[in-house]
Amino acid sequence: MLGIHHTGCSQKLRKGLVHPLRMNEITSNQISDFRSKTTLGLALTSVLLLTPFSIYQFIIQGNLVIGAMSLSIVGIFAFNAWNCKRGQYNSTLTFLVLVPVIIFFLAYAFQEVGYISMFWCYPAVLSFYFMLPERQAWIANTLFMLIVMPQAWQVLESQHSIRLLVSLLMVIIFSGLFVRVITNQQQKLEGLALNDPLTGLLNRTSLHETLEHVISQSERLGLPATIILLDLDHFKTINDTLGHDVGDAVLRDVGKYLKDRIRHSDKVFRLGGEEFLVVLYDTDYLVGLEVAEELRRGISSLSTLADTNITTSIGLDTLLHNEDWNEWMKRCDDNLYQTKLAGRNKVIS
Ligand code: GH3
Ligand code: MG
Ligand code: MG
Repeated sequence: MLGIHHTGCSQKLRKGLVHPLRMNEITSNQISDFRSKTTLGLALTSVLLLTPFSIYQFIIQGNLVIGAMSLSIVGIFAFNAWNCKRGQYNSTLTFLVLVPVIIFFLAYAFQEVGYISMFWCYPAVLSFYFMLPERQAWIANTLFMLIVMPQAWQVLESQHSIRLLVSLLMVIIFSGLFVRVITNQQQKLEGLALNDPLTGLLNRTSLHETLEHVISQSERLGLPATIILLDLDHFKTINDTLGHDVGDAVLRDVGKYLKDRIRHSDKVFRLGGEEFLVVLYDTDYLVGLEVAEELRRGISSLSTLADTNITTSIGLDTLLHNEDWNEWMKRCDDNLYQTKLAGRNKVIS
């Protein structure tokens, strides 16, 4: 009996409930780097298309101020592209430096080169939506209209100014609405990809990335870190005797209990089936052991099933120096295996 059960749990872990993560192509970074990708495309296009104009203004027209300003815009776009490539794009820098430079450049350009400056207004307002978070993009475009339009008004005939104003407002509002729809869809997709629909906990998609982050943070700051692997005991029997719906309710309640019990900074994953993983940042072995014991006791006193006690087997391990996430998980998995062998409803570390 014991043999069958431990084999059930642990072979699954061994066969790769834990380890196929190596093969998993999706990470939460890949999902959420949408803005970085659009910014990279926009930055490269801008560098390619704006450089000839900047050189023309600077060298051929001899317009030093306009030439220097447009060259600096090209330079900032190139810097953005480089940062995107390194995965270090920072939209605050764009908001505080690039946006003001573009706005003042266009305000000045209306005075210096006149009406042809209006052609650059359209890509400018659109680019803000690509490079900035939604709220900052709205602020940037409001500032753009407040600062650039009065300059345009002085240069253009009033009927042209009105058309420029209305057409720019249309571009700003249409793009803003479009970006809002895309952002909502993006957030929904991210939620679907990263969370387990039954418990709302994180699923294994971002586990690898989280563990690597914990390891790098621990090494950098010299902090301990502990993971707790939990597997509900004889869960199949609950399903078989009380039904799958009851099993689902148990999983939901265990997930909620774990989420409520851990600190906000810690993370809890449902790895699959009735297996959960808790990642405790800045937690040494002894504290981790206390938490694991508390979780084990807490789960067994959940009141989901009035007359059936739910018990949990727990494997726990604290990160060792120079260990990678796979080795760390493997040690924890081995401890869980030992717990099952030792009769379940225990913590082994
Ligand atoms: P052990 O004590 O050795 O861990 O035994 P166990 O019965 O808990 O483990 P086993 O791996 O044999 O069975 C796990 C069961 O979990 C089998 C599967 O039907 C059930 N399960 C997996 N995912 C879900 C789910 O989403 N909902 C429900 N209700 N059951 C699930
Ligand atoms: Mg299991
Ligand atoms: Mg189990």
